[in-house]
Amino acid sequence: MNDCLFCKIAAKEIPSDAVYEDEHVFAFRDINPQAPCHVLVIPKKHITHLADAQPEDQAVLGHLMLICANIARMDGVEASGYRVALNTNRQAGQSVYHLHAHVLGGREMGWPPG
Ligand code: AMP
Repeated sequence: MNDCLFCKIAAKEIPSDAVYEDEHVFAFRDINPQAPCHVLVIPKKHITHLADAQPEDQAVLGHLMLICANIARMDGVEASGYRVALNTNRQAGQSVYHLHAHVLGGREMGWPPG
């Protein structure tokens, strides 16, 4: 999508602190980290948010989840614990309208989330 920040990051038109890339997903460190580990994992395909995902996106979304787990392992937060969050629309706090999973870990987390 032409005017999408995360499409531009995945295309490397905008620099990021990338941690992983393959054919289907791109992962990079959040510019405003909320935890010692805070990585965003996005599909390269533009999907606005989870509510817009289609049956044909099933494989890439499943893949994206496994990559989240790999990143948490790589960042050393697997044993201590981590959270994967997909904020969807305004009240959930979505600010960038390209589906992204937040991988957060390395500190104690509250529940329910704020
Ligand atoms: P959300 O509020 O769930 O839509 O998450 C968007 C996230 O993108 C926020 O945590 C921002 O800090 C992060 N973000 C925005 N711009 C950038 C950027 N250029 N590089 C890395 N992370 C970004």
